[in-house]
Amino acid sequence: MPNAWIKELLQFFWLGLVAAVIGLLLGEITLVLLIYTLAYLGWYFYNLQRMEIWLQKGKKYAPPQSTGLWGELFNGIYRLQQRSRKRSKRLVKLLSRFRETTGAMPDGIIILQTGGGIEWWNSAAQALLHLQYPQDVGQRMNNLIRHPQFTAYVNGELDTPDVMVPSPKNPQLRLNIRIIPYGKDQELVLLRDVTIMEQSDQMRRDFVANISHELRTPLTVLSGYIENLLELSKDDEQLHRALQNMAQQSHRMRHLTEDLMLLSSLENERSSIKREVINVGQMLASLREEAGIVSGDMKHNLIFKVDENVYLRGDPKELESIFTNLVMNAVNYTPPGGTIWVRWHADAAGAHFEVQDTGVGIAAHHIPRLTERFYRVDVARSRATGGSGLGLAIVKHAMQSNHGQLKIKSETGRGSTFTCDFPPTLVVYKDASKQAGVV
Ligand code: ADP
Repeated sequence: MPNAWIKELLQFFWLGLVAAVIGLLLGEITLVLLIYTLAYLGWYFYNLQRMEIWLQKGKKYAPPQSTGLWGELFNGIYRLQQRSRKRSKRLVKLLSRFRETTGAMPDGIIILQTGGGIEWWNSAAQALLHLQYPQDVGQRMNNLIRHPQFTAYVNGELDTPDVMVPSPKNPQLRLNIRIIPYGKDQELVLLRDVTIMEQSDQMRRDFVANISHELRTPLTVLSGYIENLLELSKDDEQLHRALQNMAQQSHRMRHLTEDLMLLSSLENERSSIKREVINVGQMLASLREEAGIVSGDMKHNLIFKVDENVYLRGDPKELESIFTNLVMNAVNYTPPGGTIWVRWHADAAGAHFEVQDTGVGIAAHHIPRLTERFYRVDVARSRATGGSGLGLAIVKHAMQSNHGQLKIKSETGRGSTFTCDFPPTLVVYKDASKQAGVV
């Protein structure tokens, strides 16, 4: 182009020179130069008009033929048009492939704009949430799904990467929703229909709950007979020892079925949990006595530091189960003569229950798995202590149900600390003037 531009200037100059010579010969130099300039301007206007007509006709037509700078301009614009046409064709192809792929996906995808409004969705999301175009463009997710769990999830109050809620249009459907941030302040919503998975999970829970319930009566009858026979068999040492063993095992089985039933009830979503204000100090006083009995000859040093002024709003059965499991574990996994601290206090962050021991400790790689059902670090030891392997799973679920969190710190050979943090909203002070933070 710069070449064409210089050529054009030179051409204008040389033709002007020729016109000036002709003007000199004719003795009308000014008139001839004026005519020459007007003719050159006319040529420019003529080419501008051709360009305008060509651009208006559309990109499909070939450019007008011209020489010099104008020819270069027409061809340059034409080349740019061709290139952008190819690029937009490629983009359209890519977009339709993206649409086809996302349309074939069984999971719903929603793209949220920077402000949180819905920008785009695929056909699965449309079917799951009954979205309508264009009414729902710009709509916010909380307006579509008005469920307390979802609101808590969106507000970042849940400690989970996703949330499970019933579909707003069909409560029979269970949706798993996950919001993933991407790009610059944008978010992607993934929706999955997990109704069948939930149903089979529910069946498993019901099966465990039912079988535990069904086993309870025969076990109670057997235990009763064993207790009676134990009394009658005092004279026969061998029989007495066998019956003692049977009593111990039937006690373990009863303990196991009770734990399974408790875990099943904790796993089932209960919308109407009855919360009471619990005198934790009193609960821990009787637990201290029980722990002393279980410790027995092991003679652990039990140190309870309890703020009697701090009460907690919660389910008494669940809280008792949390406290008992953690304290009894400390007794069972701490060698004789060891120390166990039990602390209960509150501050601005909430109420805290802590059990620290100088016991066997747990290797770091076991810690994330401790709250799984039947996960034991040392199976033989756990069986010997009569553990069901369900204790920490119950603690975890009971803590979730009470909106709290369980934290585990441990070092092999040095001991462990289990901390339960309850939110401040559940804390009740016996003496209101002694609230945390109030001096
Ligand atoms: P169990 O009935 O076997 O005690 P839990 O679910 O209560 O089952 O605990 C799981 C495992 O965690 C136990 O088998 C034990 O290995 C380990 N554990 C629990 N509490 C402690 C503790 N205070 N010190 C050391 N290990 C512990």
